[in-house]
Amino acid sequence: MSADHIEACPSCDDDFDPISLDCAEALARVLAATSPVTGTQTLPLRDALDRVLAAPVVAGFDVPGEANSAMDGYAVRAADLPADGTLRLQIVDTSFAGRPAMRALGPGETIRIMTGAVLPAGADTVVMQEHVTVEGDRIVVGSGHRAGQNVRLPGEDVRRGATVLAAGKRLTPADLGLAASLNVAELVVHRRPRVAFFSTGDELKPVGSTLGPGEIYDSNRYTLFGMLTRLGVECQDLGVVGDDRAALAAAFAEAASRADAVITSGGVSVGEADYTRDTLVALGSVAFWRVAMKPGRPLAFGHLNGALFFGLPGNPVSVMATFYQIVQPALEKLAGLGAPARVVVKARTTTGLRKRPGRVDFQRGRLATNPQGELCVTPLGKQGSGVLSSMSEADCFVILPMTSGDVAAGELVDVQPFFGLV
Ligand code: AMP
Ligand code: MG
Repeated sequence: MSADHIEACPSCDDDFDPISLDCAEALARVLAATSPVTGTQTLPLRDALDRVLAAPVVAGFDVPGEANSAMDGYAVRAADLPADGTLRLQIVDTSFAGRPAMRALGPGETIRIMTGAVLPAGADTVVMQEHVTVEGDRIVVGSGHRAGQNVRLPGEDVRRGATVLAAGKRLTPADLGLAASLNVAELVVHRRPRVAFFSTGDELKPVGSTLGPGEIYDSNRYTLFGMLTRLGVECQDLGVVGDDRAALAAAFAEAASRADAVITSGGVSVGEADYTRDTLVALGSVAFWRVAMKPGRPLAFGHLNGALFFGLPGNPVSVMATFYQIVQPALEKLAGLGAPARVVVKARTTTGLRKRPGRVDFQRGRLATNPQGELCVTPLGKQGSGVLSSMSEADCFVILPMTSGDVAAGELVDVQPFFGLV
């Protein structure tokens, strides 16, 4: 077997594991055990960007409030317009945006009107200025116009009484603008969930220190920081804890006392220095600790003194895969978000994929469009759970179902683009 082959196929012959929980079932159990944080804040619009709305916004009035013009042109009465030939109308006034015309429109008359200007009383239609000829204080207008054209009706955007922003929505730039258009200056949002996290492992050293034999830099706290920050939670980095039962117990208690959720990485497997699960059993409760996913089989979930507890594996890619697939949906629910859409699309794989039945695989890939305009995905060469560079190069997960074996080049596979994640 070549070295290449070993890299491309990092796991052993153990993909089927009867005590591992199905990945979808694990997610369902985690979500069932999670409820949104209580506690809200009332914030000025700008501060509410990216926060989760806790109380709906209901329109107090129609937007637009009055009929107005969608074009620069001439306000007319549809009844005046000729069915064929041309007609002359007298220009009697002008309506500017913010400065309406002073008089109503009578038969045979027109009012010059600008985009956004209120439609004068008596008018029901706007003819674009490009479609008329001006002759002094009169316009010549032809046939072929439609009654009501180029007019924005009251309530066309938002109707009075309509729920324009539902609770559970993450507030976007459009939402801030929509609230402003309704004269809503403050929004009620959920408080941010507090998430405490730490790394476990005697081999881990902080960035900036000098490594001794067998030591490595702790990268998981940085990826976790990044994922949690993007998610908009309040994160508390509690550093590194060694593979020591007493130190772990103290760190667990400290983390749970200050957070709604606790995340650890490492020490959750079945090695001799893996104490995460035992500590959770001793201090809290374990709902499950093995999930049939790859990477990421050892994944402990439970409760710790009122906080949700996620014991992620130590391998850097496993941390990210388990976070995105299981932890992020739970934290989103904790934050008060309604079930967010997870975008999965079909793409044609440009190369074959190695896969053993027994677990759901989350392989890393890059998306592109082929010359035929089809979405295609190129799996990255190194799929080992320690190869963090694959996560950095990737822009999607290639999701291969539990029962799937090897996949041939050209087959359609499920792909989850990273843009749907944060
Ligand atoms: P463990 O789950 O503790 O057995 O760790 C599995 C692998 O992930 C080992 O190679 C660890 O050295 C590595 N690892 C654990 N924690 C971290 C971390 N915070 N940063 C980088 N690698 C880690
Ligand atoms: Mg370890």
